[in-house]
Amino acid sequence: MVVKENKQIKKTLKGLTLEELREYFLYIDEPAFRAEQVFKWMYGDLVDDFGEMNNLPKSLRQRLSKEFNIDTLSLVTSKISTSTKTKKYIFETAEGNKIESVVIPERKRTTLCVSTQVGCPLDCKFCATGLMGYKKNLTAGEIFDQFKLSSKDYKDGEITNIVYMGMGEPLLNFKETVKSLEIFAEELTTGVSLKKITVSTAGIAPKIKELDETGLNVKLAFSLHSCFEDIRSSIMPINEKYSLKENIEVLKDYAKRTGTRITFEYVMLKDINDRSEDIKALAKLMSTMPSKLNIIPFNSLKHMNPSGLAGELESSSRDKIQWFADKLREKNITVMLRNTQGDDIAAACGQLAYPKTHFPRKGADN
Ligand code: SF4
Repeated sequence: MVVKENKQIKKTLKGLTLEELREYFLYIDEPAFRAEQVFKWMYGDLVDDFGEMNNLPKSLRQRLSKEFNIDTLSLVTSKISTSTKTKKYIFETAEGNKIESVVIPERKRTTLCVSTQVGCPLDCKFCATGLMGYKKNLTAGEIFDQFKLSSKDYKDGEITNIVYMGMGEPLLNFKETVKSLEIFAEELTTGVSLKKITVSTAGIAPKIKELDETGLNVKLAFSLHSCFEDIRSSIMPINEKYSLKENIEVLKDYAKRTGTRITFEYVMLKDINDRSEDIKALAKLMSTMPSKLNIIPFNSLKHMNPSGLAGELESSSRDKIQWFADKLREKNITVMLRNTQGDDIAAACGQLAYPKTHFPRKGADN
């Protein structure tokens, strides 16, 4: 891991787990308890400088400052929705890649949506990130620093929940995603416990099984969007590789072993997944495991100028969405109807991307 500072490449300790920090301090002949101290300063106290770590000997602080950088990201710009207080951040990695995070205040909680990759290789047709293509996996430090930087900046509430639902497919960046979860799992880490973290996947069945085997018991959201294999494949090409059937089997196991409910994400697309037969199929599928349905209005990708199917997709009407939710509730399905949050700043679900023309580089815009 490297971070650029004043054109100089520096390594960073951010992203190392407690165990890895212990190994590092033993390697440099420092007592193992230095790991707990540095871990707490980095992930608990969210300090910006090794100089602030005042229970470390001065010589060690100087050595760490010389060799390492503490942050992996820098804030490029931010924009807040005046109506909803949803705030979108653009951060830059050491290599100059831009990623986005969004803070979404709701009645009882404030959720941070983090990215796990720069772009995404999965090309879901309703998603702006998919249109960008894939550039790189983020490190655990870069995932954590989205929390650090946004929680220090956001003034309209404390971040209580995190969803791994921003740019990228977390389970295709499995190692670093799991390391970041291990960091959040430590008691020394500030704020958000694993119980308040949800990992969202488009359906990488073998990796769902692997996540289950870690025993982290994090909550899982599954991007469903259609119960029919052919329709799902047409809007989510990954379904060709890992079918819905294969995913459903591992999701059932996951829900059973972890004792959690699976959240099914469902973007409402006119004439594609908003029909009577979709209601029937959804009710049948969801009765097979503890689950809830998150219905999301489709957000326009017009700002991306997409062609092909992505350019043709339209949201179901408000009335249709309400009808769809009511019918499912009649069948005893737990349905949450998400309002579009932050579409005025292109921070709504499926809109995360970095088109310079839409969101030009400038100072923080509060
Ligand atoms: S919806 Fe998620 S998995 Fe699909 S292209 Fe977008 S970021 Fe990737």
